[in-house]
Amino acid sequence: AAAGAASAALEDAKLIGITVDKALDFPGWYQQILTKGEMLDYYDVSGCYILRPASYAIWEQIQQWFDSKIKALGVQNAYFPMFVSSRVLEREKDHIEGFAPEVAWVTKAGSSDLEEPIAIRPTSETVMYPYYAKWIRSYRDLPLKLNQWNSVVRWEFKHPQPFLRTREFLWQEGHTAHLTVEDAKQEVLDILDFYAGVYEELLAVPVVKGKKTEKEKFAGGDFTTTCEGYIPQTGRGIQGATSHHLGQNFSKMFNVSVENPLGSDHPKLFVYQNSWGLSTRVIGVMVMIHSDNKGLVIPPRVSQYQAVVIPVGITKKTTDAERSNIHASAKAIEDRLKKAGIRAFGDYNDNYTPGWKFSQYELKGIPIRIELGPKDIEKSQVIVVRRNDSRKYTVQLNELETRIPEILEELQQDLFLKAKELFDTHRVIVEDWKDFVPNLNRKNVILSPWCGVMECEEDIKDSSAKKDDGEELEQDEKSPSMGAKSLCIPFEQPELKQGQKCIKCSRPAIQYCMFGRSY
Ligand code: AMP
Repeated sequence: AAAGAASAALEDAKLIGITVDKALDFPGWYQQILTKGEMLDYYDVSGCYILRPASYAIWEQIQQWFDSKIKALGVQNAYFPMFVSSRVLEREKDHIEGFAPEVAWVTKAGSSDLEEPIAIRPTSETVMYPYYAKWIRSYRDLPLKLNQWNSVVRWEFKHPQPFLRTREFLWQEGHTAHLTVEDAKQEVLDILDFYAGVYEELLAVPVVKGKKTEKEKFAGGDFTTTCEGYIPQTGRGIQGATSHHLGQNFSKMFNVSVENPLGSDHPKLFVYQNSWGLSTRVIGVMVMIHSDNKGLVIPPRVSQYQAVVIPVGITKKTTDAERSNIHASAKAIEDRLKKAGIRAFGDYNDNYTPGWKFSQYELKGIPIRIELGPKDIEKSQVIVVRRNDSRKYTVQLNELETRIPEILEELQQDLFLKAKELFDTHRVIVEDWKDFVPNLNRKNVILSPWCGVMECEEDIKDSSAKKDDGEELEQDEKSPSMGAKSLCIPFEQPELKQGQKCIKCSRPAIQYCMFGRSY
């Protein structure tokens, strides 16, 4: 009977386990990892997904961290309606041009047509700024710094992907108004540092900070700063989060102005504005980078649970008294960990073998498991196994509260270093156009000297989309021959040589730009 149960459990394990290889079918692997790892479920409206507790808990960790950072800068949270009238939405022309194709409209209430269709916010500049005009009367009302944690809707036409590109997504959007341009620009960079912090410190994902080109900047803004990530399996870049300086474009459209405190030459002064957003996309990037063929790998700083305690070594010969002793000792360890602030839980269900439980929690990406058996009890120790690389540690019970946090922290650092090495070795400097496409095909993103001209950027995209220089393009199912976009102009620049020409045209280069196929 025991053998029968064991083989049934093995069958179960196969069914619940990941059956697709990350290296062979990345999109299929990504889908399985999220659904079987119980992070997310598919929904019957295309492009919309359910965030289950395991992913929502990660979002909550990010919220907590980021919220306390922005509050220290004087930002306050507020909430504005999700609906916006077409009249208001269309006030800023460049802005609406950028968003129009993706705006979802409510046209009916029950069976009757609305007199005027009402849009669902794709972002809230136009929702909020009429009220900024009302509330900001004097320079003493500045700066005004509001943020909301909400969802927005963009009816994206590009292939939807869980977390990365969804039609409704959770994010925060910050909107601030400043008296001086210097003050506004400083904040854009402060926020970008927080975004890089979310990726690097919480999610163990390395990013490159920089500025978007004119072609890629936020519709209606002055300039956009961004942190850009990299997905090694596909060699594609991904826009991580963006912090925009809007200049006075919106304040002029919405008449957000104050009396100039400095004098009467220009009695009316339009405020300088920023907007900045970070979405649940970050979770998808984290999953793609760290997870493997056994399931999710989640950095301990954000994972819902950090450690699972599992009793082991219980056999048919184990007496009831011995078994309760193991369970009680395991429970005591769980309690001590929780008391020490570690997000721990125990699995004391005797109907499943330890092996079955190991695979189950590997699938879910619990950062460490703590095994405790009769021999460990004798030696006053536990065995700790890391999810990311199965590294084993023996930890003395009297050191539990100090060693477990250290092991979690080392794991966090190791995930970051591994991802950083992959990004660093796949970000290559290319100065000759003939090397450009071959390097893209080697799953690299590319730093090239560039002229900064929009037509040249379009030309680079077109010329790298086709088969080029006789080399076959990588047949990534979803992006057969995608051209390279500009990802950003990195703040950290390689030194430009005297007289250096643009990678693509004959104009002089003015800076290095990072190009890549992208999500
Ligand atoms: P934006 O307002 O376009 O600058 O977007 C702000 C941030 O939201 C971007 O940096 C993306 O990381 C993220 N984002 C944009 N579109 C989507 C989407 N469809 N699904 C998930 N995240 C998105």
